[in-house]
Amino acid sequence: MIVVLLGAPGSGKGTQSKRLAGKYGFQHLATGDLFRAEMAEGTPLGLKAQGYVNAGRLVPDGVVTEMVAARLKPGARFLLDGFPRNIDQARALGRLLAASGSAVDLVCSLVLPKAEAVRRMTSRRVCASCGEVYNVLSRPPKAEGVCDRCGGKVVQRADDAEATAVKRLSVFEDLTAPLAVYYKAEGVFHEIDAARSPDEVEAALSAVLSSARGGRRPC
Ligand SMILES: [Zn+2]
Repeated sequence: MIVVLLGAPGSGKGTQSKRLAGKYGFQHLATGDLFRAEMAEGTPLGLKAQGYVNAGRLVPDGVVTEMVAARLKPGARFLLDGFPRNIDQARALGRLLAASGSAVDLVCSLVLPKAEAVRRMTSRRVCASCGEVYNVLSRPPKAEGVCDRCGGKVVQRADDAEATAVKRLSVFEDLTAPLAVYYKAEGVFHEIDAARSPDEVEAALSAVLSSARGGRRPC
């Protein structure tokens, strides 16, 4: 069974992936982790990817897809996190799976209003002195702007600023909107409201998974 989890930055995709992997025994394939593992092991694909990373370029869709496909063993349960990231990767994955008589069984998309995504993405703060990480929504420092640990100044990184968040979101949307169309046509696409607590989102995902368990079926 192959499940794809899609979600904008701030949607809690990483958290939900880990929870689902633990609960249902999925092998959790996150492309970032895969890259690091293959590069560290110096596999042929890892070396190929390393060449692009060293040159400051994006690893091409073909290499990413090969890397993921090499891990997909028939009969096992996989949760794909961060892949496919665009329509070319989705088509390439579809072709590779079709060659072994399989297909993506379920695509769950964690959706969040833009304003809420930005609010979550911009909630991170770090101590400029010791690097302690805070979150103004879930874990604020006891005194505003002051580090609990060292008394240093707690600041927002440029990476977490609103303009950066809005830009990252719009890149994500441009890349993934065609994925929704593609997987809807395949009859495997489900939207999950992610503007709720992690427990509620997990329950909604579990409901979709349970209804689809046993494999691919038309919606
Ligand atoms: Zn500190």
